[in-house]
Amino acid sequence: MANLGAVNGKLLRVNLTTGNAIVEDIPQEIYTKYFGGRGAGTRYLFDEVPTDTDPLSENNKLIFLNGPMAGTMAPGSNKIAVTFKSPATNGIASSLCGGHFGPELKFAGYDALIIEGKSEKPVYLWIQNDEVQIKDASSYWGKNIPETGEGIKKELGGDENIHVACIGPAGENLNVIACITAERHREFGRPGAGAVMGSKNLKAIAIKGTQDVKPAKAGKMANYVKELYKEFANNPKANARRNYGTVEMVDGINKLGFWSTRNFSQGQFEGADKLTGPMMRQEIVVEDTSCYACPIACGKVSCVESEKYGTVHIEGPEFETLGLLGPNCGIGDWEYILKAAEVCDYNGMDTISAGATVSMAMECYEKGIITKEDTGGIELKFGNGEALIAILEKMAKREGIGDILAQGLKVAAEKFGAPELAMHSKGVSPATYDPRGSKGMAVTYATSPKGAHHMISPTMGAEIAGDRFAETGKAAMIKDTQIQMALVDSLGYCSSMRFVMQVDHQLELFKLSTGLEMTKEDFYTVGERVLNLERQYNVNCGMTRKDDSLPKRFLKEAMEDGPSKGQTINLDLMLDEFYAEMGWDKDGKPTEEKLASLGL
Ligand code: SF4
Repeated sequence: MANLGAVNGKLLRVNLTTGNAIVEDIPQEIYTKYFGGRGAGTRYLFDEVPTDTDPLSENNKLIFLNGPMAGTMAPGSNKIAVTFKSPATNGIASSLCGGHFGPELKFAGYDALIIEGKSEKPVYLWIQNDEVQIKDASSYWGKNIPETGEGIKKELGGDENIHVACIGPAGENLNVIACITAERHREFGRPGAGAVMGSKNLKAIAIKGTQDVKPAKAGKMANYVKELYKEFANNPKANARRNYGTVEMVDGINKLGFWSTRNFSQGQFEGADKLTGPMMRQEIVVEDTSCYACPIACGKVSCVESEKYGTVHIEGPEFETLGLLGPNCGIGDWEYILKAAEVCDYNGMDTISAGATVSMAMECYEKGIITKEDTGGIELKFGNGEALIAILEKMAKREGIGDILAQGLKVAAEKFGAPELAMHSKGVSPATYDPRGSKGMAVTYATSPKGAHHMISPTMGAEIAGDRFAETGKAAMIKDTQIQMALVDSLGYCSSMRFVMQVDHQLELFKLSTGLEMTKEDFYTVGERVLNLERQYNVNCGMTRKDDSLPKRFLKEAMEDGPSKGQTINLDLMLDEFYAEMGWDKDGKPTEEKLASLGL
């Protein structure tokens, strides 16, 4: 491959069945057609993992890919994607993780890491530049996230620059909401990457790298980045995020009446005024943190002293964690919300999915569909913080009712005989925005390739500025947002960089970093190509329009109170318009002409 500046074009492929580790070149075409991250991961999955693969079999792969700017000072260029076939959706999924893990892989000399096969016994991977070892992890199996990360670092000499991504008991137990957790607090979350890693008997990946990353036009890029940092320092949205993290959104979303409350049966929470960004900072935040090369630094470390649980110390909570473990379970007390997040973090469970699953079980309990006999004596009512925590512990260990809940909220609700109470699309729960209050989110959740994931096209901001209840006339905006997010995820940026960095900035950084020339039109085409390749993978998995579904609650049950009162969603109407805008047929399949126009 020609010299592409910051891109080194090296892929480390590790087969856990054979124990082989080889280094391959990444073809230049991957960078020009898919960039990296989610886009290039999709290409590799499409080519290497047949669609009939059992997600928890040794034939599935974990495809870690950095963006082309990873390891440079490009603002927020720290997101690494892992792409895999999801045990939650049985289709494609890319999960993104910030922090320092992606850049560290780059410093070790690799843009990508593919894990394939399955080890016979628990192992971890140790990557130190050219040295790659598969090491025994028997003594870490069963250990939680901090114990594993700290134990492995100590075993490797205690160097603070070693970055570890690992699974907890949830991943070992093949819980479909298990994450891979990097550096203790940053997750590859949502559709089950941790379960795939657990199925391979891979407990952790530890990396330390010492190699330089040199942009193609280093001087020009340094100047350009300096100007961008100045803009971030003066940007009001970036400042709100810096002060209050993503929790800065609580007040606005609650006031507009679409903050998930009690399993999405309400859109406003009565205790929201105690859970705002300023309240969080005043009551629980003890430290600010940041990912690699970030001009915002939105991370918050929070702490409560609890009589019941002792010192509870977490990074976060993020807005979505707060929403799903808090109001969506009827809980407004920091003590329980933080402890619930800690249980998830220690065990390696996705907080959004965990909160959605427990809130479904709480509604089943309140309606008498499940009883104390099912819960093992736990009074699983909305608002019972102790019950939330006890159930989460059971989910991580797959004990009693926790074994059912660990199969995901869709399967669990079906087993309880109440499938209509599972708020999901393709088996994955929505984030904390009720789509009845921002209807473009209905299309986002329904058409997301990895289940109801909000970051596929977070349209809330644009919708709040316009008519958030409109069901027509939004398809072009949703498509544009999906393309922009596919670009951000493939370039490896944190989405918050969009406060300042629009497509023109991203294109300029790509050119300065790699030395590649590209027009804005070509740049956009990459985003659209990624969306269509993901879609085609899922079509090949057997997914059709019927899988672009939403729960009956969103479609038929009008919001009862608040500023979103009376709203339901005409999803069919919105899908027809969106499919036409995307160049997909009535069944949601990309047409041959559309695929051909994208070179697919
Ligand atoms: S804005 Fe927050 S999540 Fe994004 S890169 Fe910065 S610290 Fe990380």
